[in-house]
Amino acid sequence: MPDPRTLTTRCCIAGGGPAGMMLGLLLARAGVEVLVLEKHADFLRDFRGDTVHPSTLEVMHELGLLPAFLQRPHDEVRELHAMVGETEMVIADFSRLRTHCRFIALMPQWEFLDFLRRQAERYPSFRLLQRADVTGVIEHAGRVTGVQAQTPEGLMHVQADLVIGADGRHSTVRTAAALAVRDIGAPIDVLWLRLPRLPDDPSVTGGRINTGSFLVMLDRGSYWQCAYVIAKGGIEAVQARGLDAFRAALVRVAPLLADRVHLLASWDDIKLLSVTVDRLERWWKPGLLCIGDAAHAMSPVGGVGINLAVQDAVATANALAAALADRDLGADALTPLLERVERRRLFPVRVTQAMQVAVQNRVLGAVVDPARTAPMTPPWPMRLFMWFPLLRGVPAWLVGVGVRPEHVPIMGPMSTPQTSTSADARPSRPRPTPRRIEVLKIQPLSPHMARITFGGADLAGFEWRGPAGHLKLTVPDDGQHEAPMPQEDGPRSALMRTYTPRGFDAKALTLDVDFVLHAHGPAGRWASRAQVGDRLVLMGPAPGYRIDPDADWFVLAGDDTALPAIETILADLPARARALVFVEVVDGGEARELRSPARVDVQWVVRQGEPAPPGRALDAALRALPALPPGPGRIYVGCESTAMRRIRDFWVKERGVQVRNVVARGYWKQGNPNHPDRDYADEPAR
Ligand SMILES: Cc1cc2nc3c(=O)[nH]c(=O)nc-3n(C[C@H](O)[C@H](O)[C@H](O)COP(=O)(O)OP(=O)(O)OC[C@H]3O[C@@H](n4cnc5c(N)ncnc54)[C@H](O)[C@@H]3O)c2cc1C
Repeated sequence: MPDPRTLTTRCCIAGGGPAGMMLGLLLARAGVEVLVLEKHADFLRDFRGDTVHPSTLEVMHELGLLPAFLQRPHDEVRELHAMVGETEMVIADFSRLRTHCRFIALMPQWEFLDFLRRQAERYPSFRLLQRADVTGVIEHAGRVTGVQAQTPEGLMHVQADLVIGADGRHSTVRTAAALAVRDIGAPIDVLWLRLPRLPDDPSVTGGRINTGSFLVMLDRGSYWQCAYVIAKGGIEAVQARGLDAFRAALVRVAPLLADRVHLLASWDDIKLLSVTVDRLERWWKPGLLCIGDAAHAMSPVGGVGINLAVQDAVATANALAAALADRDLGADALTPLLERVERRRLFPVRVTQAMQVAVQNRVLGAVVDPARTAPMTPPWPMRLFMWFPLLRGVPAWLVGVGVRPEHVPIMGPMSTPQTSTSADARPSRPRPTPRRIEVLKIQPLSPHMARITFGGADLAGFEWRGPAGHLKLTVPDDGQHEAPMPQEDGPRSALMRTYTPRGFDAKALTLDVDFVLHAHGPAGRWASRAQVGDRLVLMGPAPGYRIDPDADWFVLAGDDTALPAIETILADLPARARALVFVEVVDGGEARELRSPARVDVQWVVRQGEPAPPGRALDAALRALPALPPGPGRIYVGCESTAMRRIRDFWVKERGVQVRNVVARGYWKQGNPNHPDRDYADEPAR
């Protein structure tokens, strides 16, 4: 027999589901060489769970991928309903969550996984091998050193410093590594089916409970995705009663289906999910870590499995990415970090499974108990949601965000994407970092500011990286209309300046940038005389500011150069937040409306004096603020470098605000035309 093909990689992930693909993306983004092995040839599987919860959408936001992600086909669920007997009620209201998306996105899982794959493939260190069925682990001296997999080309060995078992609830990896499983048990199974949704059907997603029946109906636009709960092992009894009896049971619990249940032509149209709830006694051994369903199979209650798998992936990347990226660190150095991942994730998994088991046993098991004959009425805890609508936020939080949500640190990826992104529906193609863009429109915003809209095919793949991001623009020299393309490895162009992306339309491929019009530097001069058709060069963007969803208030202070950043932050603030905005401008004519879902108080501060020292009026206005609002809050300062340090020191040293609650950015420095971008006040002014 020929020797098996052998590949070597830093990290090998078995399983390309939500956990494996998300971890693959995060590690590749951190510059780690990562290989994902997936046994199927594609992601096209039905009834795999299509619920992308606010916690996962928040991760997408933190990765700067949310707008592109939401371009994928999806439906948005903002409330969950329950119909118990004849009583209908809202049991979860996502509108009160402190997340960017206050809804569940119902997206086919293959769309979700394909999106992750496309994003991951932008990084050169990512590789996905499909039709690679992991059949065992390779161990040496008590350590997992790789896996073996069957591929169309034959048996393959993969040597890796770390193996991740993300191969789902029937995990081969965990069995092969002899990790002990604790079966928690479930009294139910679920039958999945889909039926057409008609235009007059109510648009509600939720559960319907009637004597002996529990049906969850997810509104998927053109169809209902339905989950019918049966007693554990009850499929044979259901089938023995016949398809007509099953159709009648569906109609009893959901009368609106009466005109279409005949479309269930055979049992092939109905898929059994045998519900398992289990957890590994230990998620790791040297060289191996299991995450997602491979570490803890979840009940379908709450539809949280995908989201916990994603949270595991984020926690794993947070704990391991830096160590994996450091090739000088040997495999042994990773072992304590594996334990750390389990320690971090065990609590949320335990709590979630305990809640699922309580619902399974006390509610679902009782409802589908064949011995039950009494008519159903809402139990008193459910009635509380009718009487006190505010309480609907609690289940929304438990389902949508959950215990101990994980966050992707907001910082630039350590690895540079190599291919296009945002128009992720397009085939990806190699793209050099500088992009040629052209002026499409110039729109005055005030006497000293203009919004310039750029377009161009090179904007395919431009990625919105959150509010207050920044990008590099090389502008045409005085008297020119086309900026020179920077040479790779050449010196930094004297015509290159930093700006804030103000808005990006991924469909129209247009980018808005707001320019302060002045005569002191090449970009201000160009903007003052810009013409439609002028051609610039764009690089970036770098990621922006992470809005703390738990903050009750924000102080946003800056001069006119930071106004675009402040406006992008304002646009993303949650409606429940309060924003105190201070903007220093050259004269009162610059004042204009600033839009935000939050409650905003704006103070336009006019720069005083001749010559007017930048930032002094801003500093004075902030010092005049008698007190900060109550509750947790954040301060953002963006202005001239020296003034920024003075303002930051005032808040931290004189007003006792914690440093971590203040983000301060030096946007420019008086007397220094080549001021660096990353002037974050963590070192003395240069
Ligand atoms: C019918 C059904 C409905 C569900 N509904 C929901 C829902 O609405 N919401 C929700 O959040 N969760 C739902 N879930 C649960 C959810 O699908 C899982 O919790 C989630 O997918 C777990 O992600 P994972 O990446 O850990 O594992 P999986 O999604 O199971 O991914 C494992 C991957 O590994 C691959 N694989 C398996 N074995 C091997 C091997 N030996 N070699 C290589 N690759 C392998 C598989 O093909 C798969 O792609 C549902 C599950 C089912 C079965």
